Amino acid sequence: MSTIDWHQRAQDLTIDGRPFISGRRVDSVRGETFDCISPLDGRVLGQVARCGTEDIDDAVLAARRAFEDGRWAAKPPAVRKKILLKFADRILAARDELALLETVDMGKPIQYALGVDVPAAARCIQWYAEAVDKVYDEIAPTGPNALALITREPMGVIGAIVPWNYPMIMASWKLGPALAAGNSVVLKPSEKSPLTALRLAELAVEAGLPEGVFNVVPGYGHEAGEALALHMDVDAIGFTGSTRVGRKMLEYAGRSNLKRVFNELGGKSAFIVFPDFKDLARAARTVAGSMFFNQGESCNAPSRVMVHASIADEFEALLAQQAPRYQPGDPLDPATVMGALVDDGQLRTVMGYIESGLAEGARALCGATQARVESGGFYVAPTIFSGVGNGMKIAREEIFGPVMSVLRFNDEAEAIRLANDSSYGLQASVWSDGLDRAHRVARALRAGTVHVNQYDEDDMTVPFGGYKQSGNGRDKSLHAFDKYTELKTTWLRINGA
Ligand code: NAD
Repeated sequence: MSTIDWHQRAQDLTIDGRPFISGRRVDSVRGETFDCISPLDGRVLGQVARCGTEDIDDAVLAARRAFEDGRWAAKPPAVRKKILLKFADRILAARDELALLETVDMGKPIQYALGVDVPAAARCIQWYAEAVDKVYDEIAPTGPNALALITREPMGVIGAIVPWNYPMIMASWKLGPALAAGNSVVLKPSEKSPLTALRLAELAVEAGLPEGVFNVVPGYGHEAGEALALHMDVDAIGFTGSTRVGRKMLEYAGRSNLKRVFNELGGKSAFIVFPDFKDLARAARTVAGSMFFNQGESCNAPSRVMVHASIADEFEALLAQQAPRYQPGDPLDPATVMGALVDDGQLRTVMGYIESGLAEGARALCGATQARVESGGFYVAPTIFSGVGNGMKIAREEIFGPVMSVLRFNDEAEAIRLANDSSYGLQASVWSDGLDRAHRVARALRAGTVHVNQYDEDDMTVPFGGYKQSGNGRDKSLHAFDKYTELKTTWLRINGA
């Protein structure tokens, strides 16, 4: 266990909230700022620039210049790879600093910021760096007199707009493939968690990324985010966030230059337990671990647990036994497994959903209250609702907090129908010892990822994204290159054949 005094380090933190444009920190044009508030205790950590249209113009111009003069895009893939690998090394070397910033900024336990977020962000950059000089272009089988080359070219300037729940990981999922492919990026982090993105840009330039290739503009969604998504000189938007704002991204593209929009949006993932699955204790441990990880602020949280009626009482008892392990604690204590919600607004939203669940007749097996209120931060106890109907608001809407709903079903067809009866389709999980059933149900589920007898298995090689209103396009894997490259066909006439 770490011997670092995280509280002391948090006290000593000084933050620089200025935008990063053209390889350095600059003052925002209007000089306006907003308070950066720590969800741990409501303390103001410092001021962050409230970037507006002028700053977005500057950042996009810097990114465009960097793209057009080929300082990055024209470098051989092997050179880009070297620099990006150095960038990943820098991230790992700054592990303690980045983890502390992430924890004080968005409330997650320090042990996960250190052990999950920082390594995952570095791994993502590393993975695309290693991939980029191994992706070959194609030659079409056109016959003897002509040659058609199908090549991938970087798209240009990518606007990346990301949420607050995994700030570094979400940024790296955009940066990895976009930068490796040769694009320039303008990143707009969430106003609720802008600190690590700004540090990432500094680390990238220290690693040798040419100036202007990676710019960060903090600010509010309806100001900086909207200006970026509407910008006529941005070629594509890689967005991760809510379905509500994802819809706006499509509108902005329609109102501006029809830029490509790739949306990674919300979820309401189903976790289906059949009576032929014998190790119910493992299923209960897994779903609780996945649901309450990151305070439930995960797009793929298994928030709809569907259990066959014949085992539902037993399973609910096992679930309730798990809850004490996830009591919120001080995020800077390395033993804490559940931290603070990101802000007061999120706390109120989650408590509102809990009240709505109770009002609609669901029964709380545990939680349903705020926690650690004396600390002044934003904490909610792990909450498990029994007796939930799929029509209830808590079953239909993404809560983005530590709230699990348990529904019952009577047969396989009903389980599939309930699971698919959602506007979302991000992930799902099937628990059955029957191979045929597991296969059948996995195929019938309308979700981008289906797990069988596990949840949250993770690897850079597999795509991440959703069906339906959970988005379009995929992050991670080689498929993410599709979002940030154009396919070009070049016909060559071959004479004399
Ligand atoms: P959000 O949609 O409120 O904000 C996301 C980003 O968009 C932020 O940077 C925000 O400032 C910006 N934004 C907000 N309004 C905007 C506007 N009008 N124009 C332009 N930009 C705007 O989402 P959030 O609350 O930050 O994050 C939570 C959501 O993210 C959840 O719905 C969650 O499921 C989703 N999410 C999805 C994935 C995935 O991979 N599918 C991963 C993580 C989070």
